[in-house]
Amino acid sequence: MRQRSRALLALLFSAALVAPAAAQAPAPSSWDPLTGPRSRLARDWVGTQPVPHDTEILVMPGHADSQGVAGPGTSGEAVGRRGARPMQPGISDELHWNLLTAQAIVRLGQERGLRIRYYDPEVRNIAHGDDPRTTWSVGRMHAAAGGYALEIHYDAYGPDGVGSGLIVPLNREPSRLDESLAQEFGNYPRNFRGGLGGPRRGVAILEIGKLEGQLERSLRDPARSALVVNAIAVRVVQALVRGLEPPPAAPVATLAP
Ligand SMILES: [Zn+2]
Repeated sequence: MRQRSRALLALLFSAALVAPAAAQAPAPSSWDPLTGPRSRLARDWVGTQPVPHDTEILVMPGHADSQGVAGPGTSGEAVGRRGARPMQPGISDELHWNLLTAQAIVRLGQERGLRIRYYDPEVRNIAHGDDPRTTWSVGRMHAAAGGYALEIHYDAYGPDGVGSGLIVPLNREPSRLDESLAQEFGNYPRNFRGGLGGPRRGVAILEIGKLEGQLERSLRDPARSALVVNAIAVRVVQALVRGLEPPPAAPVATLAP
């Protein structure tokens, strides 16, 4: 089964790399074969603060508590432009993919030995951002206690979207963990849109990619969906591992004389 998954993954990547659209795409720095366009907005920060190896990382799905109230997330190009049926009734397609992606990141991160956990408010319509159950409130407390809080998002399709990239938290100086995610996915300016609700509370926002085109088609393709979510999660976890300080080396056993 593992062997088969690996073969499928190789197929997926080779298909993505030789797709005709890829041949006309801009340089790799602004376009990614898996996640599509990266943010082209200017970088005005560098993350230099070291982050201890055992820092607890809290991963949360964006828009998990704001369906039907302000900001449910993007419907995605398939639903919004082509009239496809939503992936799940009652929630935006963005939330559907945010949930699956955040869960995969936590599962893989725990397998890699990271201190990483998941939070989903499960109540999908919370009227106030400062309600203690929201991802913003739980993320704010986690960040204030020294942890790293990360919300997973997919960006809007068409001209409303910017592309993949990290929006850094505003409660502290950018860290090496922020830097590592931005190296992998791209970046947004520090005060993007005057400071969003999450970053103002200490929550980093990772835009995986615009929910359109090849990325959305591969996510919606039942034959590729789980592999794509997994491939994205692997990249996030690898970036997290690279951004943390290395764990202290195990003590070397001394031989008795
Ligand atoms: Zn979003």
